[in-house]
Amino acid sequence: MGSTITFDTKITALPGIGVKRAEAFAKLGIFCAGDLLYHFPRAYQHRGKVKPLCEAEDGEVCAVMLTIAKEPVNVTVKGRMTLTKVVAFDETRRCQITFFNQSYLKDVFRIGAAYRFYGKVTLKNGQCEMVSPAFEPYIPGVPLPEFFPVYPLSEGLTQKTVKDAIRFVMDHCDLEKEDVLPDSVRRLYSQQGEDSDNMPGNMPGLHDAMRFIHDPADYAQLNAARNRFIFEELFVFSMGLSLSRKPVQRRDAPVMHQVDATVFYQALPFAFTPAQQRCAQQIEKDLINEEGTPMARLLSGDVGSGKTVVAALAAYLCVKNDYQCALMAPTGILARQHYEDLSDLLGRLGVETALLTGSTKAAEKRSIYAGLAEGRIQLVIGTHALITEAVQFHRLGLVITDEQHRFGVRQRAALAEKGKEVHMLVMSATPIPRTLSLILYGDLQISEIDELPPGRQQVDTFVVNESYRQRLNGFIEKCIAGGGQVYIVCPSVEPSEEELVDLSYKDTDEALPKLKSAVAYTEQLQREFPDRRVDFVHGKLKEAQKERVMTAFAAGDIDILVSTTVIEVGVNVPNASLMIVENAERFGLSQLHQLRGRVGRGKRKSYCVFVSDAKSDTAKKRLQALKENQNGYKIAEIDLTLRGPGDFLPTREGGAKQHGALHFKLANLCDDLDLLKAAFRAAESVAGEDPLLAAPEHARLKAQLANLWTQAGTTLN
Ligand code: ADP
Ligand code: MG
Repeated sequence: MGSTITFDTKITALPGIGVKRAEAFAKLGIFCAGDLLYHFPRAYQHRGKVKPLCEAEDGEVCAVMLTIAKEPVNVTVKGRMTLTKVVAFDETRRCQITFFNQSYLKDVFRIGAAYRFYGKVTLKNGQCEMVSPAFEPYIPGVPLPEFFPVYPLSEGLTQKTVKDAIRFVMDHCDLEKEDVLPDSVRRLYSQQGEDSDNMPGNMPGLHDAMRFIHDPADYAQLNAARNRFIFEELFVFSMGLSLSRKPVQRRDAPVMHQVDATVFYQALPFAFTPAQQRCAQQIEKDLINEEGTPMARLLSGDVGSGKTVVAALAAYLCVKNDYQCALMAPTGILARQHYEDLSDLLGRLGVETALLTGSTKAAEKRSIYAGLAEGRIQLVIGTHALITEAVQFHRLGLVITDEQHRFGVRQRAALAEKGKEVHMLVMSATPIPRTLSLILYGDLQISEIDELPPGRQQVDTFVVNESYRQRLNGFIEKCIAGGGQVYIVCPSVEPSEEELVDLSYKDTDEALPKLKSAVAYTEQLQREFPDRRVDFVHGKLKEAQKERVMTAFAAGDIDILVSTTVIEVGVNVPNASLMIVENAERFGLSQLHQLRGRVGRGKRKSYCVFVSDAKSDTAKKRLQALKENQNGYKIAEIDLTLRGPGDFLPTREGGAKQHGALHFKLANLCDDLDLLKAAFRAAESVAGEDPLLAAPEHARLKAQLANLWTQAGTTLN
């Protein structure tokens, strides 16, 4: 067996693959020998389970072992089609088998020889028939494979072409040289497996694993191989995350002193909940740690749990220590909202606060820049404009980012760079399932506000379809007549418009329901509610225009606000009591939960209506889950199970998701939790020992990561 092929060998170098076939393979994402081996079967026919013919039911797909009864005959019909008719039998009955346009088969099947046939058996008038079954000759003493792999195909490829190409690579490539998993990791994994029920104790090497997954002899082999490849995927993924994180080993963050915050608490119209108190203490402890270790903390909590005041306290502590604080929000609207809330509260306590967004006028910008450089401005709130070159801080001590999952990791790091080593507090309103936060925020300590402030009302939730439109309009009218205000959210129509609507999501078994565009819909609503004030806001409007509309809505000057998801992230309009989401099936569950959290913030009884004509079971199940659950974490877990992790992952600049890096072939972050944890530990250990992946045994891994991260549009830094 010559070892002339490597994983990087182009598939056109393989026998039987020319330009045409290479194009067909390219459609499957297969360009080189390695891709081919990682093209795993999508299913396995269980041909090993041979049935007696008499037990096959009408229409059943199964394997039967039959002996050829007589010479096959070719019959030409309609002048051009050739049917090959074969009669075969087992101990229990006879079967008529027909093949189309394969006249050569007449000479393949020999009287008295046995074959294993696999396909659909039909029973007609007491006759047993099979049409174009798959078959393999049976040679006594030579076992036939139990499982028969079925590969995803593209036009121009057959199962046989794919199988032959894979077999050829298997036979001519030294697979052990191509393994991305370093030996140390395989050993580690096998050790861990010994004391876990859910993990196999021994990890097959790449060669065995490939053999097992493409041509398993039994379930045990198949499972061992699957587990290995799932682990491998998760390991590479974890490795990428581990390496893209900055090590937080430095010790030069400001050491703050304890501050008497009595006046802060007195300025609040309410008392902190026990959960808020606990989080506040954790933050305070970080800020005053004498080693000067920078705080790297995630403040997580369900929508409405009161993260903002906890962040305000952190800002207060920082400012009272003569350090500046920066709060960065993902949208201008949200930055303004924070500014209004915080400058009111902290302003009364004498904190000098400024708002800096894309829509800040040039003259004012210059004055803010000067104020920050001099140290006169103590708290600055803004969007990513905060990390432009022009912004220089006098003494930056704490950076708070809100809704950080919408920022790129690099943006976060850039802001931290501004203050060299500063304390960092990250607020996340999207509840992240614990399993994922371990992976995504492995570098952050977590403080969780796990209870809502007392007296919060439940938002009554309804899921309706178009047939309720009339009644829904009546409901809107009733709500406004009672003095309330209404949000109506539509998914954005153009992919570039709103970064959060996931257009990659397809309701698999139906065409997408027609989308409502915010602008057209606003016009329609204005006709339907001529006496009401209807306006809209969407992602493409200028920042200043968005802020104007939101301010008008907050002031009660707009009755119905139509929007894309820009309102999702944290605006607070206590008078709004009805939230309607159109084409609700297009949103992630956590997004919908966030949207629902926009109402029920004041005293008014509040309602949320999800409008959807989607008919698939998954879509219905998802919306039903929202109706039944009010807990964001629970909902996030459900969403993760039903939709996969895309919605929870950090975005890179521009808002596009790192889907590329997360397109798992086999792994499922929910089901494979044990493997994920093991992979994560292994990755941490490798990243700790060889952060540059300079060791020869990490060369493959390094190359693969570079590749993966380029696809995902992010580079390792
Ligand atoms: P989120 O965690 O979603 O950012 P917010 O910080 O916007 O939540 O808080 C939601 C609302 O709850 C705000 O109006 C805030 O003033 C109020 N709130 C926060 N903490 C408490 C508390 N301990 N008791 C009562 N109301 C609170
Ligand atoms: Mg908030």
